[in-house]
Amino acid sequence: MHSKLPDVGTTIFSRMSALAAQHNALNLSQGFPDFDAPLALREALAEAVMEGHNQYAPMTGLPSLREQLALQLHLHRGVTADAETEITVLPGATEGIFCTIMACVGRGDEVIVLDPSYDSYAPSITMAGGHPVHVALSAESFAPDWDAIADAITARTRMIIINTPHNPTGTIWSDDDFRQLETLSQEHGLLVCSDEVYEHLVFDGDQHRSVLQYPGLRERAFALFSFGKTFSVTGWKTGYCVAPAGLSAELRKVHQFVAFVAVTPVQQAVARFLEAEPQYPAQLAADYQQRRDMFCSALAASRFRLTPSRGTYFQLLDYSEISDLPDLQLCEQWTEEVGIASIPISVFYRKPPAQQVLRFCFAKREEVLLEAAERLCKI
Ligand code: PMP
Ligand code: GLN
Repeated sequence: MHSKLPDVGTTIFSRMSALAAQHNALNLSQGFPDFDAPLALREALAEAVMEGHNQYAPMTGLPSLREQLALQLHLHRGVTADAETEITVLPGATEGIFCTIMACVGRGDEVIVLDPSYDSYAPSITMAGGHPVHVALSAESFAPDWDAIADAITARTRMIIINTPHNPTGTIWSDDDFRQLETLSQEHGLLVCSDEVYEHLVFDGDQHRSVLQYPGLRERAFALFSFGKTFSVTGWKTGYCVAPAGLSAELRKVHQFVAFVAVTPVQQAVARFLEAEPQYPAQLAADYQQRRDMFCSALAASRFRLTPSRGTYFQLLDYSEISDLPDLQLCEQWTEEVGIASIPISVFYRKPPAQQVLRFCFAKREEVLLEAAERLCKI
């Protein structure tokens, strides 16, 4: 059969998690916590199911949840969003990104993605008939290279996809980055798809900046969020999109025929939990910073080089003093022989640079992080 995605295989996350299971390795590859969500949230889900919240929700999401999300945006970001017309609950950020692209990108349109980029962006653009235009982030700092981005814009450029805090590098965007984007996107009439799923995981006293906080971006942006990250429930596959009413209407046209709705009892549970604990997301950063610090300190005696992650739950480790092997090969070898699974970062590039870096997820229990670090120190 003719393939619509001839260059695409099974995602690296599925492959590495399967390899980790096969070799009984510590799985620091795919990003998910190995500890459970808050008890009150799990109880709220059980109650929602037992109370009979088990049929289709409204297509745009339960009103009670959308109201809580509007309150959250105001509380944590100081932005206002209309619960009825600007917030859409979705079955995960991945579906939201796909529907955003499907709604906006047509045949021959170009979309700028910044490499290393999350694996779903480019195939989603291709499926919409568009062309991903890959622009590399700066080699050392992984900051956006604004000259290179400006050079990549053509008359066909329709959208730019951004992601901060950034998977896989753990960097975050500065105020200046947002101002540069604001100027460029206004000048060229670009739409912005802003992947902010790690919004609450920002460390060392830094603040997450959202596209929603910049007026020139707010009017042209889709901001995507995920409950999987914020509530440690990646398996619940629920998130939401905030966009101006006109853009949300276009997103909803697509979403209604891709998934139609997100899971009802999950929406009910999150709405109840947020009503009772509106400040819950604000304490996540301290918890994850502690895990990051534990992992990084325990690696002090190793031969890896690292710069502590500034956001997300991923830590990059440079292994150039240990091995010359390509990252994918090394990753597989260490899963089998050392019993630790990680993610090669070359897979997030169209043209991988010559760098020897692996990504490790530190959303893990203390004993797992310490055991992983001990094994890595022996390499
Ligand atoms: N964007 C990024 C950058 C991610 O790391 C992930 C991983 N979960 C997603 C989107 C997808 O989120 P969801 O599980 O809600 O689809
Ligand atoms: N976002 C997760 C990661 O980066 C994986 C999600 C997935 O497996 N698709 O590891």
